[in-house]
Amino acid sequence: MYWEKELEILERKSLERLQLERLAKTLGQAAKSPYYGRFPEIVRFVQSGMKAIEQIRELPFTSKEDLRNNFPWGLLAADKKDVVRLHSSSGTTGNPTVVYHNRHDLDSWANLMARSMYAAGVRDTDIFQNICGYGLFTGGLGFQYGAEKLGCLSIPAGAGNSLRQIKLMRDFGTSVAHVIPSYLGRLFEVFKDEGLDPRKDTKLHTLVIGAEPHTQEHRLRIEEMFGVKAYNSFGLSEMNGPGVAFECTEQNGLHIWEDAFVVEIIDPVTLQPVADGEVGELVMTTLDRQAMPVIRFRTRDLTRFLPGACPCGRTHRRIERISGRSDDMFIMKGCNVFPMQIEGVLMKLPEVGDDYRILLDTIDEQDEMIVEVEVRQEWFKGDLAFLDRLQRHITRLVRDEVLVRPLIRLVEPGSIPKAEGKAVRVLDRRKK
Ligand code: ADP
Ligand code: ZN
Repeated sequence: MYWEKELEILERKSLERLQLERLAKTLGQAAKSPYYGRFPEIVRFVQSGMKAIEQIRELPFTSKEDLRNNFPWGLLAADKKDVVRLHSSSGTTGNPTVVYHNRHDLDSWANLMARSMYAAGVRDTDIFQNICGYGLFTGGLGFQYGAEKLGCLSIPAGAGNSLRQIKLMRDFGTSVAHVIPSYLGRLFEVFKDEGLDPRKDTKLHTLVIGAEPHTQEHRLRIEEMFGVKAYNSFGLSEMNGPGVAFECTEQNGLHIWEDAFVVEIIDPVTLQPVADGEVGELVMTTLDRQAMPVIRFRTRDLTRFLPGACPCGRTHRRIERISGRSDDMFIMKGCNVFPMQIEGVLMKLPEVGDDYRILLDTIDEQDEMIVEVEVRQEWFKGDLAFLDRLQRHITRLVRDEVLVRPLIRLVEPGSIPKAEGKAVRVLDRRKK
């Protein structure tokens, strides 16, 4: 039932005691880095210790900007000769962010991954296909080492080339796959083009989906298309990558591993903790990392703690699926809009295909929100009156959800350009 029973069902008091112990070590280690070493608050705690985990609120936040401004070595807390790997984000704007790991860090990460996959029902008898980019992106190696630690036969398939993915699945009897949700629609289309049905023509029973925001409606679709259970996997490079929070087989929110991270949810404006159960920004501190501890990292991801105990017995708190990033939100005609609100509406409609895109544009000096929506082939070929009704129906549903009237453009399946990795849902071309 558990990968590491003692740690996973540790009662709250002991868990907090463990956190406090590990935080003390982490601060001692962090203070060795040029960046953290100059914060008097950190040095003070290193010298005099911390009495309660709540005192973490006296420590400074770390933002993505701080990582960028101290690129490349500023947060490194270990001797370079002990560092064995780095991962780095895209860095399309300015310096990339980089995270360093020593041997211990990689072992600890692989263990969290194995624990996470085990919680989602993956076992050493499974054949695991990792359908995502290897390299600097953490989803590749993160899942790879986790699956190996768990003992699965793992297939490091990499991203793209759907025909080859399908062949691998069928040749080796893949039972579990890790896939970015926005790629699954395309993969399903290729199955169909080949005259195959993943429900009958593969041995898949579990998908692990994550790395990008997706709605419950999208998950249900994926489960239906592939005839599987799909589990939400959350992580970010600054906290290793995947293996930060994961759904167990109850599928009722994501357990966030509190022996490895201190988790806070704050109001992004006041920077104070939100009331219990309220939505705010996730802030995380590493507890088991040596080469590069990160303190109170502002993830920008929005979520809330879910109340109550999980029937699985794990005591690590659960967070709700990420509803978006604070920087995904856009303002249209005075209303705050999150792309996931629109996805939630679209994915409920059987006529809607698997992709959509939101274009923000200025038309005749007016800002407009155009939503391109792929319609399934069988409906797309339908009569014009039908498409017209569908268009009006979607317009109304989206407007009721986000309080802005969209321009809905129904497009053919497969016509929306796909991003290389994670889906790009919003294109802002408005005149500023
Ligand atoms: P980048 O910030 O360049 O995308 P990462 O790979 O570190 O690099 O991405 C981490 C981010 O991806 C998270 O902060 C979050 O916004 C998003 N993310 C990861 N997993 C999920 C998930 N299961 N649900 C929603 N968002 C996710
Ligand atoms: Zn659980």
